[in-house]
Amino acid sequence: MLSQLHRIGIMPSGRDTMSTDMTNHPHVLDGVAIASEIKAEVGREVAALSAKGITPGLAVILVGNVAASEIYVRSKVKTCGELGIFSEMLTPPESITTEEMLDLVAKLNARDDIDGILIQLPLPKHVDTKRLLEAVSPDKDVDGFHPVNAGRLQSGQPGLAPCTPAGIIEILKRSKLPIAGQNAVVLGRSDIVGKPAALMLLNESATVTVCHSKTRDLPAVTRNADILVAAIGRPGYVTAEMVRPGAVLIDVGINRLTDAADVERFFAGDAARAATFAKRGSVIVGDVHPAAFAISGAYTPVPGGVGALTIAMLMHNTVKAAKLRRGIPVGRA
Ligand code: NDP
Repeated sequence: MLSQLHRIGIMPSGRDTMSTDMTNHPHVLDGVAIASEIKAEVGREVAALSAKGITPGLAVILVGNVAASEIYVRSKVKTCGELGIFSEMLTPPESITTEEMLDLVAKLNARDDIDGILIQLPLPKHVDTKRLLEAVSPDKDVDGFHPVNAGRLQSGQPGLAPCTPAGIIEILKRSKLPIAGQNAVVLGRSDIVGKPAALMLLNESATVTVCHSKTRDLPAVTRNADILVAAIGRPGYVTAEMVRPGAVLIDVGINRLTDAADVERFFAGDAARAATFAKRGSVIVGDVHPAAFAISGAYTPVPGGVGALTIAMLMHNTVKAAKLRRGIPVGRA
């Protein structure tokens, strides 16, 4: 099947929109290439700010020793370094209290050299996550999780939008896929992905349906989608029967398979995945089944799709926060 696929990142200039009715040749929407493009743009913005004596700054708070969080945080800090963004990592112990965390956040809110504050989730159970996220100044809330930024998104005001859904919009736009007037179905209604993704698609004039665990006859709804965003956290849940041939499939899910039988069920005949599984003992699969990708018009792979955009959008938000705070006009991502 791979030989049939056409990998695209940014469409060549001069081409207006990509047809979504290419059932025989699904396009792979290359999140890594699009993320590189955005990071290069952010790097140029940082250089322009630097010429004015401004260095955008990001503070990342990582509590305790969660291995996955450490990997994410390291790559965020590394990307800051590559783009010329100042970064500071704070690593309080697992035993930190909510009050001590609030104090830490208050100090970062007050610092002029810090434009963005990121609290790496999940936090230990004894820490009040909601209170903390609301304590971050909305103007430094580069994750876009603060209710004020959710409100700004809802009312179409300039603000900081959550990185993963913002990445979805960037993938669609930079791939010249039409959004306005399209039937967009969002699977999942979390505050960090599903809901903001639905709002952003609505703001781009799609006709949006949001589905969740209580939705009746889900396949009937999803088959109506021109653009289907899957963000439910269930491996390969969206099957070919749930998808209209030629639809655009945006797969947000990140699910780790550790059982050889599951790997065979999803990726039979895929030598690369088999090799990864043999080496690491696990492989990643999204919320969309590979058989559904095969009948789509275009899709984001996992890994290498939406996930690749998240850090790029965080960098974008940090520079945007630096500009908004100083009244400097901001452009699009
Ligand atoms: P949540 O668990 O917070 O939300 C899952 C949503 O899916 C809920 O709204 C739930 O419905 C819905 N859902 C679950 N099962 C079904 C079902 N069978 N049918 C219909 N709807 C269902 O997950 P997140 O939004 O945080 O994350 C979703 C996925 O995206 C995960 O795999 C996560 O790892 C991944 N992710 C990837 C990111 C990236 O950078 N690529 C970033 C963030 C997340 P209900 O509300 O009714 O319970």
